[in-house]
Amino acid sequence: MKKTFQERIAYALSISTDTKVFEMGRGYASMTPEVFKKCFPGRKAMVVADVHTWPALGEKMYAMLAEAGVTTEKYIIDKEEFHAEWKYVEMVDLLVEGKLAEAKAIEQDDKHVEADAEKAFKPASENYFILVSVGSGVINDLCKLCSHHHGQSYLTLPTAASVDGYSSFGASISYQRAKQTFSCPAPVAIIADTDVIAAAPKEMTAAGYADLAAKVPAGAEWMISDFVGTELIQSDAWHVLQDYLDDFLSRPEAVAAGDPDAIADIFEGLTLSGIAMQAARSSRPASCCDHLFSHILDMTEHRFNGKLQSHGFQVAVGTMTMCAAFDELFKLDLTQLDVDACVKAWPTLEQEQERALQLFKDFPAPKLGYTQITQKYQGPEEIRRQLEKLKAEWPSFKQKLQAQVWPFEKMQAAFKAAGAPYDPSMIGVSREQLRDMFPIVQMMRFRYNLLDLAKRGGFYDAIVNPIFAKGGAWEI
Ligand SMILES: [Zn+2]
Repeated sequence: MKKTFQERIAYALSISTDTKVFEMGRGYASMTPEVFKKCFPGRKAMVVADVHTWPALGEKMYAMLAEAGVTTEKYIIDKEEFHAEWKYVEMVDLLVEGKLAEAKAIEQDDKHVEADAEKAFKPASENYFILVSVGSGVINDLCKLCSHHHGQSYLTLPTAASVDGYSSFGASISYQRAKQTFSCPAPVAIIADTDVIAAAPKEMTAAGYADLAAKVPAGAEWMISDFVGTELIQSDAWHVLQDYLDDFLSRPEAVAAGDPDAIADIFEGLTLSGIAMQAARSSRPASCCDHLFSHILDMTEHRFNGKLQSHGFQVAVGTMTMCAAFDELFKLDLTQLDVDACVKAWPTLEQEQERALQLFKDFPAPKLGYTQITQKYQGPEEIRRQLEKLKAEWPSFKQKLQAQVWPFEKMQAAFKAAGAPYDPSMIGVSREQLRDMFPIVQMMRFRYNLLDLAKRGGFYDAIVNPIFAKGGAWEI
């Protein structure tokens, strides 16, 4: 039996570790003062917005909070383009302490030198401001991490269904030139006003559609890590979203047309995804290789027509690419695996470390592959166990994977209908570039992925090369 909207939210809140209030509906922003006072009695509020979200919602929230008797300050980020970089973490940290002028100085300092992330933590104090995040992914992530630095929570008012980070555990921030996920609790309260969210720029909603669709191949890769036993599927974190994922994604045309109900579905899906991450205390339920392509683009500061591309648009390309990789996987008959030969060919840890150092030598984080592969390396006997299981159970496991993951063509058509990129060139990435990212993707995260399985089974080339060959999804 599928749950109703109310039941889904009640279940989500029952498994969430941090979020206690999730309100979603038309005009719901007006609940903010009441929710704020309930969650943060007697505390001061700091509305954080940018030049777009201030007129869209921030200004109204500032006025409503003040009118409700809450001591309220505001901070508007003036920069047209800003990203989740450490500099802005320092800026928002100062806002918690009410140091607005110092925060502005950091914002405007283009030569700012990053401070030590370890030293950002402060003892909690009733005198700090509670952050009220009015914006999309970046503002929310900054508020999330900075609240954690000060031992308190915050309230978030999303202005677009663009990412799943509103409700997730952790903040994705660039620090020392590497995109990193910093551990920090999700907000205690999320108020999603669907009138505001549906009025967001279309490309932001399309990006959110893609970020949600990434949970399709990411789910399949979680099934793989569960299958080999490295990271088991956690039932609540799986079912809270995956049982409804295909439904949420079923109306890409309506999403593109700005239909508030279809967009509310996307927002709900993204929120449930974040809650799945809270329950799992990991991003495993929400991302795998699909996101790593995007992380490479972030770390190399990829631009298209001079502009950094949105998280969701980058993830769209990674998601389609992983669907294509699964299509190729399903063409293989793994019951014929030569396990002895695979185990014999399996490299030593030292060889893998050397390969990582070579692969990443011109990468902004040259040691990244080395540390991650060291963490996920497994010895030959473990490889044998995994491959014997794969060989024995392939027909039934393949069936389960096929029920989860979408064919490339279906995913591409959905992105086209939703207004998301449906070809890497649409974010300025060539097919050659995409092909060259694969070895980096395999090694850049400790998390077990499809490519790790393929390396173990000696079918890595068999699933990657055809994607770029004649007749492949990204034929070069
Ligand atoms: Zn994402």
